[in-house]
Amino acid sequence: MDQGAEFFAQQLRAVGREDDVDPAYMYAMSRAKFYPRPWNGEISKIEAQTRVAIWNTLVDKYILNEYDSRSRLEIEIEAKIGLDGGPLFKQCEAKGCTNVEGRDINKLKYCSGCKLVYYCSTACQGESWKEHKKECAAKTHRPQMSLSQWTIEQVAVTYSAALPEILNIARNRGN
Ligand SMILES: [Zn+2]
Ligand SMILES: [Zn+2]
Repeated sequence: MDQGAEFFAQQLRAVGREDDVDPAYMYAMSRAKFYPRPWNGEISKIEAQTRVAIWNTLVDKYILNEYDSRSRLEIEIEAKIGLDGGPLFKQCEAKGCTNVEGRDINKLKYCSGCKLVYYCSTACQGESWKEHKKECAAKTHRPQMSLSQWTIEQVAVTYSAALPEILNIARNRGN
């Protein structure tokens, strides 16, 4: 584990959140020179494709080389990223629904209004509409993040002074 990732792992342990970051995610984070989160158009499509390829290759390496009793798919769901910087396997965002694309359902559909929120069915979309209506019109729904990404985001807020440092180390590794 490189210096930046080890430092970050310490912060996670300090706040008792180390179990909320998937070990495969941590593995990739300690080797990649970037920190994935929904990019919101901050990087080009080509750069996004490059990062996705690097990250998901690292997750594949984890699956191949590290001991983990979970199935390949379960690890991929937790740790792989998609072109938007969020999880590769999106989950239905209706309250209480745990359907994941590629596992429980073939394909999720995004809200045609804002294209920012994913549902597994028209039933889930319908149930969420009352709550989603406002943010749909304003297009303010936050892009989906994995549990690991949420945890990192929350811990980053706690250690906001230290985070740029961590990210810089991660970014500059090997330079
Ligand atoms: Zn659903
Ligand atoms: Zn919408």
